[in-house]
Amino acid sequence: MTNVEQLKQNLGKLSPRDRDFANSLLDGFSRYGSLTPKQLFWVDKLNARVNAPQPAAVKIAVGSMKGVIALFDHAKKHLKHPKITLSLNGSPVTLAIAGAQAKAPGSINVMGEGKFPNREWFGRISPEGEWSPSRALDSDATKRDALLALLTEFANNPADVAKKFGILTGNCSFCMRPLSDDRSVAAGFGPICADHYGLTEEWKSAVHNQKQAELTETVNAAATATNTNGFFGDGTWRAPNATLNSWSLSIGTKVATLPMTI
Ligand SMILES: [Zn+2]
Repeated sequence: MTNVEQLKQNLGKLSPRDRDFANSLLDGFSRYGSLTPKQLFWVDKLNARVNAPQPAAVKIAVGSMKGVIALFDHAKKHLKHPKITLSLNGSPVTLAIAGAQAKAPGSINVMGEGKFPNREWFGRISPEGEWSPSRALDSDATKRDALLALLTEFANNPADVAKKFGILTGNCSFCMRPLSDDRSVAAGFGPICADHYGLTEEWKSAVHNQKQAELTETVNAAATATNTNGFFGDGTWRAPNATLNSWSLSIGTKVATLPMTI
């Protein structure tokens, strides 16, 4: 049996993506009666993939990806290829849902730096939350552990981790654009991505919390400023750097309210 005939027999054992590729090679063969050396190399390679014993894959539980998949499902209504980028000690870790042609459709691909086909590959996570780390991580246990911690945290609270990334890098976790206004910086992602990924409530509450924090800061700053001078914003005078309580204690039960002119 020739290698091409063998490939035809192996079609059913290939992954959907490899099968598509094999079919295109077989089409070429039936059309032209021969294949180029490069195409023959791939015929051999695909046959070898079928015959090679699959090493037992390591699987690590990172927690259910339900929340993460919900984000992607929401985003798919608006975007063709939604992605989420996180930070692993400053390096990007990008997550995307594997398409219908992939080896494991519906799983989450975990990628690192670089561009396809030279992009770092950290493995995939099943929707149930089983991460199969890439072989490349076998020799780097430190990185694998750090990734495990990041992915586990992300599985448990995707919006929070996306927010941390935005605050840390100044870029939106979803579209990677710089966060331009204060409200988006506070939320960690922009209002448009919040809408795309179904996180509008999280965006609103982050903005609200930020406003509250700013208000408290303003009030504290004003109090500190007046405190230094001995004047308080409510028109009372107190001993410099003393709180209302310590001052009133020093004169008994009565709270002193002195005129501002001394
Ligand atoms: Zn964005």
